[in-house]
Amino acid sequence: MKNKWMVLLFLAATGILLSGCSQEAAREPEIYDKSDIVMGTVVTERIYTRGEDASSEIIELLSEIEHRYLSWREEDSDIGKINQQAGKGQAPVDEQTMGYLEQTLQIAEKSQGAFDPTIGELSLLWDVEAENPKVPSEKKINQRLQNRGYEKIRMGSDGGQDWVELEDQCSIDLGAVGKGIGCDETAKFLKEDKQVQGAVIAVGGSILTLGSKPDETSWKVAIRDPRGTQEELLGVLDLEGENYVSTSGDYEKYFMQDGKRYHHILDPSTGYPADTGLISVTVLGENGLVSDGLSTACFVLGMKKGAELLEEYQAEGIFVNEEKQVYVTEGLMENFELAASGYIVFPLSS
Ligand code: ADP
Ligand code: MG
Repeated sequence: MKNKWMVLLFLAATGILLSGCSQEAAREPEIYDKSDIVMGTVVTERIYTRGEDASSEIIELLSEIEHRYLSWREEDSDIGKINQQAGKGQAPVDEQTMGYLEQTLQIAEKSQGAFDPTIGELSLLWDVEAENPKVPSEKKINQRLQNRGYEKIRMGSDGGQDWVELEDQCSIDLGAVGKGIGCDETAKFLKEDKQVQGAVIAVGGSILTLGSKPDETSWKVAIRDPRGTQEELLGVLDLEGENYVSTSGDYEKYFMQDGKRYHHILDPSTGYPADTGLISVTVLGENGLVSDGLSTACFVLGMKKGAELLEEYQAEGIFVNEEKQVYVTEGLMENFELAASGYIVFPLSS
């Protein structure tokens, strides 16, 4: 008799325990926000999760990717090693770096070199982020034009060790895809955590949205007004689920000389800042690297050729020109809402 009561008590206890578990599952996710500086830019995170706060781990992850693989200012990163080894033979690299370079070279090829990861020597010459940047001499620009071209990169693998070889006096600069790569790695990391319901992460001008919000409303991705203050919006993209959105603009990093704007996106065919009448390009593509790379490529190519490149990648985009016309590809028209005054939106049909 006593045993029977014990069993009942036990069942009751597990019953409570089980209902406790289901209550746990139905619990609202917590919201975790974090903002920090990494990859040379501001990273802003919002994570909805029933599990642990992973926001600090993501900052560490981004920092590791920068220092281990991407940074071209550091000698110990894979890209740093390739650059130091330029003209001297093969540099062994991690397979992760190979993956990044393969995708990057594909964008270089498809954009016919408008996007050029060997822009490093020219970027260094312009150094628009220096304290007192100046327009370099034409002679120097022409010299550095010889030291670029994506065909100057060779890659291979020997006995399971990947290597990259770069021609003498050239430098790889993955600045145009680094933030997008950051979004890709963050997405991989967050997807492994089944407790995460949704997240929106901005690595500078590259944004990742993942999953959903607890209230099931859509993600609102703000696009900056290229001629407004940092807080002023051009408009908002209304998106569901997983997305990668990158913006390149002439307002990010630039200096003025003799009343003219010199920005950081260079046209590899001239060695000067790209000058196609565009002031901002936003791209929504299959992953972060592609979106980031294509936004830079489109900025250099101009709207017409840029739109053709987007089509090849089945990506969508928003092109803003100096006349304050905003051209939106058909697949994004319904998602985009203009917020800034003085701009006019047009559909961009292919
Ligand atoms: P941001 O770094 O401001 O987000 P982008 O993604 O457009 O902007 O990348 C610009 C950076 O890419 C430059 O700072 C430079 O390092 C590099 N870059 C400049 N011009 C080119 C180009 N034509 N192709 C590839 N990379 C470029
Ligand atoms: Mg880019």
